[in-house]
Amino acid sequence: MTSKSHAESTPQATTIVILGASGDLTRRKLIPSLCNLFCKGKLGPEVQIVGMARSNLTEQEFRDSLIEGMEAFDEFSPDSQEWDEFTSRIHYCHGDVASNDDLQALEETLRSVEPAGTPANRLYYLALAPFLYGPAILNLGSTGMAREENCWRRVVIEKPFGVDLQSARELNKLVHSVFAERQVFRIDHYLGKETVQNLLVFRFANTIFEPIWNRNYIDNVQITVSETVSVSDRAGYYDQAGVMRDMFQNHLLQLLSVVAMEPPSSFEADLLRNEKVKVLNAVRRSAPEFATQTVVHAQYDGYLHESGVPAGSRTPTYAAMRLNVDNWRWQGVPFYLRSGKGLNDKRTEIMIEFRRPPHLMFPQDISPNILAIQVQPDEGWHLEFQAKSPDEKMELRPVDLEFHYDDSFGGQAIPDAYERLLLDALTGDASLFTRSDEIEEAWEIMDPIIRGFAAPDAPAPASYVVGSNGPELADDFLAKDDRRWLNRSWQH
Ligand code: NDP
Repeated sequence: MTSKSHAESTPQATTIVILGASGDLTRRKLIPSLCNLFCKGKLGPEVQIVGMARSNLTEQEFRDSLIEGMEAFDEFSPDSQEWDEFTSRIHYCHGDVASNDDLQALEETLRSVEPAGTPANRLYYLALAPFLYGPAILNLGSTGMAREENCWRRVVIEKPFGVDLQSARELNKLVHSVFAERQVFRIDHYLGKETVQNLLVFRFANTIFEPIWNRNYIDNVQITVSETVSVSDRAGYYDQAGVMRDMFQNHLLQLLSVVAMEPPSSFEADLLRNEKVKVLNAVRRSAPEFATQTVVHAQYDGYLHESGVPAGSRTPTYAAMRLNVDNWRWQGVPFYLRSGKGLNDKRTEIMIEFRRPPHLMFPQDISPNILAIQVQPDEGWHLEFQAKSPDEKMELRPVDLEFHYDDSFGGQAIPDAYERLLLDALTGDASLFTRSDEIEEAWEIMDPIIRGFAAPDAPAPASYVVGSNGPELADDFLAKDDRRWLNRSWQH
């Protein structure tokens, strides 16, 4: 890959610049992940971290706020010597990313921490509200901070990337006016999860699965991202986004594309992403007026009483959707996607339901084989198949072959997705980041559906009880296709 070979020939000194450094994402994910990488010796000796936000903090106050944040989230507790070594590399510069002068001041700070005389590489991480992505990128351009002279410059952009196809296209255009695509790392942290990467290994490093990974053997695919939390203090953002923009356009479609893609000829960023784009391109588009035939949506009871939710809001907090992938491999195999807040379970799972045997010689009706890929929690796989009950005449029952990370890898901790993704961005490997065309394809799928449900005559969202499995409507939706949701509670 171009950017990787470029990285290999550049000097070691690298600065990670976090724009929006006093926020939740920085405290909860970025700093713990960077600290972990540092403690594992993966950051390199020449790394500096510079944070910027408008709050007027001293360097020490900033460092203190980071450790308080990490303790509060209870995610990681380095020993004090490691923490001291790590924080000695953390610096702070207060300022507004929308101000050209403030970015000039940031440039001064960066130069003061970078080795004199040798240009350092820089990774700009936009941990900002989405409306600030544009101003921040334009200012990085106008101040010359995106220029690569004997060094690399990369930018990591958080989700959400746009709110619809048009805004995503405009943002891509703006980003490309400053950075080349090879410098851009649009993050979808689901792709950084070990289980999702393992899906690629599972499919393409084993010969036994790929021959059956198609319409001849698979009846349907179900992808679930369920959350127990309500919108709580994120209502302001959430009510604008809803579950379609918050979960479907990014995480769920990314999972779908990894399940459905063809094998690339090698594990290289662009080849991998080409295959994912082809899948998204093959997903059948729905016209807005038909959105209600392929999607059901609902809102949890009490959503309207959450602080920050406008009266009468019709924002869905749950949706279930059927997508068809129009290509040879998947013709006729529905992909059912569902996600919601306030449900009875926090779980991300991909279920592959295989076809029934063409002829059953046993008197008993049986359930088809199921392959369950548990993305989180309790990361692992289950393959459900039929076996004969011992000491019975011919009674069959489903049994389970399973693989779990903690059993198979000696309890080795699974790194947070951000850890992997930060390291990839630092080494210039964009395989697990979303390319501009991928983002636009995903919006092209979701846009008509979102518009369909926003129409004045569209049905209001159904309701569901907090702590339940979701609305009954979602069960009816699958029943109409003669199928049911595969809700398993695996005992491990
Ligand atoms: P927060 O609101 O917690 O933090 C935003 C940060 O931006 C603060 O440090 C704020 O500090 C700073 N900021 C605001 N305006 C400016 C400005 N004009 N110039 C410089 N800094 C500014 O947001 P999050 O950390 O939760 O989220 C950041 C991004 O990450 C969002 O796009 C979000 O969608 C995405 N994201 C977040 C996740 C999370 O777990 N939090 C998960 C996935 C994505 P100050 O007010 O001091 O300027």
